[in-house]
Amino acid sequence: MNVDVYYVPIRIRALRFASVYVLKTGRHSYLVDSGMDNSALTFLEQNGVDFSEIDAVILTHMHIDHIGGSKSIQDKYGIPVFIDERDREKVISIQNDIPGFMRSSKIFLSEMGVPAETTETMGDNHPLATELKNYEHVDLENFSKMPNSLNDLDFFHVPGHSPGSTCFLPKNSDIIFTGDHILEKITPNISYYDSSEDMLGEYLESLRMTKVLQKNTAFPGHGSPFTGIEERIKAIIKHHENRINEISEIIGPDQLSAYNVAKLMKWSKGRTMESMNIMEQNFAVGEAIAHLRYMENQGFVKSNLRNGIRLYSNAI
Ligand SMILES: [Zn+2]
Repeated sequence: MNVDVYYVPIRIRALRFASVYVLKTGRHSYLVDSGMDNSALTFLEQNGVDFSEIDAVILTHMHIDHIGGSKSIQDKYGIPVFIDERDREKVISIQNDIPGFMRSSKIFLSEMGVPAETTETMGDNHPLATELKNYEHVDLENFSKMPNSLNDLDFFHVPGHSPGSTCFLPKNSDIIFTGDHILEKITPNISYYDSSEDMLGEYLESLRMTKVLQKNTAFPGHGSPFTGIEERIKAIIKHHENRINEISEIIGPDQLSAYNVAKLMKWSKGRTMESMNIMEQNFAVGEAIAHLRYMENQGFVKSNLRNGIRLYSNAI
């Protein structure tokens, strides 16, 4: 078995590269993830990837920096592309109705306490809408549903970072392709995908299940392969426990919206909500929502709707 690593440039400043892999098991070859857009194909060709050898493109999750190059690869080489069904449906439903998605996001974020002056800007030129346009060239209708295994590869579902995040496990090996489920240097972003899912709850469960696999080397969606997966998982779980304690202290005896909780949370590099741009604010509120929803599910906080805004208070 052999794995080649390609650091494909992407237009996300905080990350700069996505890690794309060619996995050769001896009998089959796979491309793991595909970069952000069509330029990934050129980059991979120029760096010596022989696409005539690739049996399948397998995608770890729906985010554009992982799936964006796959359509051009499929079009040029006719290679089948596999993605988990939960992620596939999510992207297709958004793609089919971007204005509708923006409208429902606006309603949801208002309920989460995001001020009207922010939600009112959520039209066609909003950064979130522009972000969604990145998906326009990716045609997920032609992607195949991910089976539980393919030839000499097992698929391991790890919902959390996205609803359909998937790890790839070559049979009889001690390596795991983690996508953005586990990264070495960054805590994977956990947010919300609709008004009911508990993504953090799903994520923590996925982390515990991944730990049980006891794999040795992780091949992540960003950065270089690394060992010490168990320690890394423990550190990520600890990070979320700290976040939960922090939020519970922030709420104290009060009733706060998710937006006001996010404003009081500590953000890296001393940033404040006031100093963040719209997309960063969106990430911050998303993180607060994911934690509050988990805490509510666990019975640590309760919420009620007052004047259209959901207010959270400590339950214990
Ligand atoms: Zn990513």
